[in-house]
Amino acid sequence: FEMEPVDINRPIQDVFTVLGQQLRLREIRVELDLAQGLPPVLGVANRLEQVFLNLVMNARDAMEEKRQRGEDEEMVLYIRTFQEGDKVVVMVRDTGTGIPEGIRERIFEPFFTTKEVGRGTGLGLSISYGIIKECGGSIEVHSEEGQGTTFRLTFPACQEPE
Ligand code: ADP
Ligand code: MG
Repeated sequence: FEMEPVDINRPIQDVFTVLGQQLRLREIRVELDLAQGLPPVLGVANRLEQVFLNLVMNARDAMEEKRQRGEDEEMVLYIRTFQEGDKVVVMVRDTGTGIPEGIRERIFEPFFTTKEVGRGTGLGLSISYGIIKECGGSIEVHSEEGQGTTFRLTFPACQEPE
């Protein structure tokens, strides 16, 4: 795999060509606020797509789970990209179950899952973590039980050759 400058909006948009229809059918509203003219990040586009696919599928699962608990509110997935100094930031927020405080520090561990057998491998976030590290980036989670979860990804902007 070759590292190359990637417009971070592209792998995000590609995820919705794969999952957009499915999210509409599940009545999950998607709000994208993608900044134009962002500096690229150094990475591998299809590996970054894997990261966003994992995050979006987790958000979908958490919102479905919340619905199954009988919450009758609108489910919304927000994704925002923006530049912050010499960083490119992606926020992925859902209105799902949230992550109980006691397990929050374990979610990036390989094979850690709260899903039923066959529904989750527990590998999504650990693989995503590795891919983000490859790009020199970082990932943080903020979550409130019953309210939802936000993942914040930060990547160094790639310096274009002068
Ligand atoms: P998997 O999805 O196969 O369980 P992941 O590594 O993707 O594995 O996620 C690990 C665990 O982190 C999930 O089982 C779930 O408990 C928790 N999790 C991840 N994302 C979310 C989210 N958006 N909302 C609530 N819980 C989450
Ligand atoms: Mg997952």
